[in-house]
Amino acid sequence: MNILTLPGDGIGPEITKQAVKIIKALSPNFNIDEAPIGGAGYDADGDPLPQTTLQKAKDADAILMGSVGDWKYDQLPRELRPERGLLRIRSELNLFANLRPAMLFDQLVDASSLKPNIVSGLDILIVRELTGDIYFGQPRGIHNLKNGEREGINTMRYSESEIRRIGNIAFQLAQLRNKKLCSVDKANVLETTELWREVMVDLSANYPDVSLSHMYVDNAAMQLVRAPKQFDVMVTGNIFGDILSDEASMLTGSIGMLPSASLDINNKGLYEPSHGSAPDIAGQDIANPIATILSAAMMYKYTFKQPNEAIRIEEAVEKTLQQGYRTADIMDDNSTKIGCEEMGDRILGNL
Ligand code: NAD
Repeated sequence: MNILTLPGDGIGPEITKQAVKIIKALSPNFNIDEAPIGGAGYDADGDPLPQTTLQKAKDADAILMGSVGDWKYDQLPRELRPERGLLRIRSELNLFANLRPAMLFDQLVDASSLKPNIVSGLDILIVRELTGDIYFGQPRGIHNLKNGEREGINTMRYSESEIRRIGNIAFQLAQLRNKKLCSVDKANVLETTELWREVMVDLSANYPDVSLSHMYVDNAAMQLVRAPKQFDVMVTGNIFGDILSDEASMLTGSIGMLPSASLDINNKGLYEPSHGSAPDIAGQDIANPIATILSAAMMYKYTFKQPNEAIRIEEAVEKTLQQGYRTADIMDDNSTKIGCEEMGDRILGNL
C-alpha cells in the first residue's frame, strides 16, 4: 500500500509524525511518502495545493493529513490561502463522504462539558456530504449593486444524484452499527433540503432494516447537547454537517480526540483529525496527537479493510488513557501530563 502524508501547517507536522510511527510499526511494508499542502504548499511552490502534491495524492492508496492554516497567511488572496488547498484536494479527489465519529472514551468522561450521565458511553457517527452545498454552489461572490452598495452571494444546491450517493453511504454505515439513521435538514424552509428529505425517504425502501428519522437542523443542534445518545448515525449536507460535527466533537471533551475520514466512491480516503492547525500551540510539543492516530485507525478500517489493525490502534489509545497519561487539553487532577511525542511513544508501546 502507498500512503501519502500531508503534514501541513501549525501542529500538523508534530501530530502526523506520531501517527506515522504507529503505521510503520503495524505495516512495515507500506510505502509512506510526504508532500506539502496548505501554507507549507504555498511556501514550497506558491500554491496551497501544488501540482506535485495533487498528483501524489491521486497515485496514493490513502492519504493522511495533519492540518492546514496559519494566521500568517490571512492576508493572501482567498485562492492562495491554506484552507483552499484542502477544499481543492477534497474536490479533485471527489471525496464526497466525510465520516466523523464522536466517541467518548470512558476515561475522559470528566473532560466533557456535559454531565457524565448525558455523555458516558457516547458513540455517534456524523456523515457529512463534503463536495456540494453552499460551499461550492454557483453563483457566488461579492457584487456591486446598482444602488452603490455591495451584495454577497452563495448558493445552496444539491442534485438528486449527489444526495443519493451520500445517502447510500449513510444507510450502509447504519447497517453496520445500530441501524438508526437520522437525516438532518431544514426542509420547512429550504427547497434544497426538501429534495434531500424526499431522496432519503426514497432510498429507505432499499434499507428496510434501518430505521430512518428526520430532524430539522436547529433541533438537531439542541438535541446534540440535550440528549446526544439518542443518535446512532446522522447524515446531513456540507454546511449543517460542518457545524454539527464540531458541536458533537466538544461532547467528547477535546477536539484533539476526534478523527475523520473523507471517502470517494471506492473508499479511497483522506484521513485527518477534525481539528485545525492550532497555531497557538504549534511547535511546543503539547498538541494531542490522538485524533490523528485514530484517523490512521479509520484508514485501516475503511480503505485497507483491515479492521483488526484499527482495533489494535484504538485499544492502544484506550490503554494509554487507562494508564493515566494525558496531553494538556484532556488533563485532569489524577493524571500524568505528557507531551505530543511521548503520547505517540506510549501509544506505540501499547500497540
Ligand atoms: P483549531 O482547531 O486549530 O484550534 C481551536 C482550539 O483547539 C485552539 O485553542 C487549539 O489550541 C485547540 N486544539 C486544536 N487541536 C488541538 C490538539 N490536537 N491538541 C490540543 N489542542 C488543540 O481551530 P482555529 O483556531 O479556529 O483555527 C486555526 C487554523 O486552523 C485556521 O487557520 C483554520 O482555518 C485552520 N483549520 C484547519 C482545519 C483543517 O485543516 N481541516 C480545520 C479547522 C480549522
